[in-house]
Amino acid sequence: MAEIVVLGAGLGGTMMAYELLPQLRPGDRLTVIGQGRIFQFVPSNPWLAVGWREKADVEVDLAPIMARKDIRFIDAGAERVYPTENRITLGDGTDLAYDYLVIATGPDLAFDEVPGLGPDAHTQSICQTAHAAHAFTAFEKLCADPGPVIIGAAQGASCFGPAYEFAFVLDTELRKRGIRDRVPMTLVTPEPYIGHLGLDGVGDTKGMMESELRQRHIKWVTNARVKEVRPDQMLVEEMAEGGQIARTHDLPFAFSMLLPAFRGVPAIRGIEGLTNPRGFVLTNKYQQNPAFPNIFAIGVCVALPPIGPTPVPVGVPKTGFMIESMATATALNIGALLRDGQPKHVPTLNAVCLADFGDGGVAFVAKPQIPPRNVNWSAKGGWVHYAKIGFEKYFLHKVRRGTAEPFYEHFLMERLNIKKVKEG
Ligand SMILES: Cc1cc2nc3c(=O)[nH]c(=O)nc-3n(C[C@H](O)[C@H](O)[C@H](O)COP(=O)(O)OP(=O)(O)OC[C@H]3O[C@@H](n4cnc5c(N)ncnc54)[C@H](O)[C@@H]3O)c2cc1C
Repeated sequence: MAEIVVLGAGLGGTMMAYELLPQLRPGDRLTVIGQGRIFQFVPSNPWLAVGWREKADVEVDLAPIMARKDIRFIDAGAERVYPTENRITLGDGTDLAYDYLVIATGPDLAFDEVPGLGPDAHTQSICQTAHAAHAFTAFEKLCADPGPVIIGAAQGASCFGPAYEFAFVLDTELRKRGIRDRVPMTLVTPEPYIGHLGLDGVGDTKGMMESELRQRHIKWVTNARVKEVRPDQMLVEEMAEGGQIARTHDLPFAFSMLLPAFRGVPAIRGIEGLTNPRGFVLTNKYQQNPAFPNIFAIGVCVALPPIGPTPVPVGVPKTGFMIESMATATALNIGALLRDGQPKHVPTLNAVCLADFGDGGVAFVAKPQIPPRNVNWSAKGGWVHYAKIGFEKYFLHKVRRGTAEPFYEHFLMERLNIKKVKEG
């Protein structure tokens, strides 16, 4: 009998647990450790922040679902992982031993790396449901007393789709409310060009995103390094190719949302052999940690190298489909190890994404993630908004039902010949 533990019950961790179930032998035990018992569907957060969703719409109580699926669920969170001892100290001070561990702890939000950044200081966040609900209160204040808006991402960020999404969704809602003419908007991003997305662009995301920003009268600053955020003012340095400051911008704002850089969560940060200097888990192509081969990692907590050098640091995004491919490969690899086999399943890590604009959107497929690609496709249209709503409904349905049955395959995979995992 083996003890298999999934640490983290977010988008990756829940799918991981459901994918592992069919891999277990009789007598094996699966445990999921959550930070609390509530699952949040993070991709809906831009909608929460303008009042198009409420928290209850995108949150799920995992405890009864896990119980129904015979998964032991612990909601105390992990204080620290001790990989040399195959043990985790939980938030309540007790210890949990494991034979196999899958780390799916997502990001720690590095607001502290920029003075004045974050919901405890002067900018809003949409990274967590509670942050997005807080941002909605600030958004209502903006609507009552309109002024300039800054949306974007800080240096070192790796998640750009949601920044564009939120800028366009906000623009849509402000137009609906008839006050867009009183809200000058600026997008601030460390990306070297608009639509880079941490992926050196996909298809014509550069042209499409720039055109969309122009169409909506949203100005932008690229290669941006945010020096400091004050209560109503943001100091931004625009960097040149050589790394010197090309221009400085002193931008006033009445409302701002900037995505922070990510790093690994404290429970795993600074563990020799397990994590890199930013606390992301080191893995081989099987999602397995080389130093501790009974530990796997999936999702945002995984270390992936940037796509290339840029004047301001920009990370690679880890998006839903890519995370599901990591989970599928990991489940199959642990299943093999449980049967005295060897890991052989490799996630394809293709990026398949929908960026909603509130009244339209952009879809893109990057296969493989690093250019040049076999599939480098992007498209724009009203259908993307509805596809994203479908994605939300279907994913929440999967979490509630306790199933990892594939979503994308039915709609995209066959037509684009995209697979989640391959053998190698
Ligand atoms: C605002 C936003 C919008 C996004 N939109 C999209 C989108 O539209 N499409 C897309 O494909 N991708 C999107 N992404 C990217 C990605 O899909 C999400 O970030 C996704 O939630 C990442 O999944 P994850 O499991 O790695 O992390 P998370 O979903 O963040 O889950 C990590 C979990 O681990 C828990 N945890 C952390 N520390 C501990 C601990 N010590 N003990 C126990 N539990 C712990 C956290 O509480 C959390 O529940 C978006 C990201 C953001 C930030």
